[in-house]
This record gives sequence, structure tokens and C-alpha cells, in this order.
Amino acid sequence: MSDCIFCKIARGEIPCRKVYEDDDVLAFHDIHPAAPVHFMLVPKLHIASLMQAEEAHAALLGKMLLLAPKLAKEQGLDNGFRTVINTGKGGGQEVFHLHIHVIGGGSLPPMVR
Ligand code: 5GP
Ligand code: ZN
Repeated sequence: MSDCIFCKIARGEIPCRKVYEDDDVLAFHDIHPAAPVHFMLVPKLHIASLMQAEEAHAALLGKMLLLAPKLAKEQGLDNGFRTVINTGKGGGQEVFHLHIHVIGGGSLPPMVR
């Protein structure tokens, strides 16, 4: 996707504060952090949201989920962290390239009771 901001970041056309990169996945700090540590995991493949994810993406999504705790630990989040995937306009998604937020470093209140 030529005009997608996270595709541009994945291609290196827009700078980011990189946390991790491999052939399939990029992780970078959120430009407007919601907590002391706030980064996002994105697939290099453009998938608009979780609603567009398919069976063929299962391994990629699994890889991203398993990377989350590894990278969180590397960022000092030994005590835990929150993962968030906003999906669709109703889910508060603003950037329509699937991403997993990893948030922590403070004491986060429960999000759902
Ligand atoms: P969403 O609401 O779609 O789940 O979250 C999108 C996130 O992307 C927001 O937290 C926003 O701060 C972040 N964001 C938007 N544009 C950029 C950008 O150009 N660079 C970085 N690093 N983060 C961005
Ligand atoms: Zn994209």
C-alpha cells in the first residue's frame, strides 16, 4: 500500500524509533506514547485490520504475539504490560495497518471490569 503510513515506516520512507526488525515484522515506538513505554508491532505485509486477517496470516500473527513479551522484557517491562489491538472505526483504530500496541512502565488501571 503506497499511501499507508505504517507501510511507509516499514519501507524506511518515514523515520521511526525502531525496537525490532526482521523480514516479516517491525516494532517501533509510538509517536504519542500513552505510557512510559509504548511501542507497536506491525507486520511488513499490509493487513488493514484484524477484520482482514485470514488463515494464511496465522503464523505471522502468532509470531507477532510471541515477540510481544520478548520485546517488552527488552524494553524493561519485567513486571508486565498491556497489549491492545484496536480494530475498525468502532474499535478506535486510526491507522488501518494492523498493529499490536505494547504499553507499560506505569501502573495501568484495569481496562475492562
Ligand atoms: P490506532 O488507534 O490505530 O490503534 O493507533 C495508531 C497509533 O499510531 C497511535 O497511537 C498513534 O500515536 C501512532 N502513530 C500515528 N502516526 C504515527 C507515526 O507516523 N509514527 C509513529 N511512530 N506512530 C504513529
Ligand atoms: Zn500498510
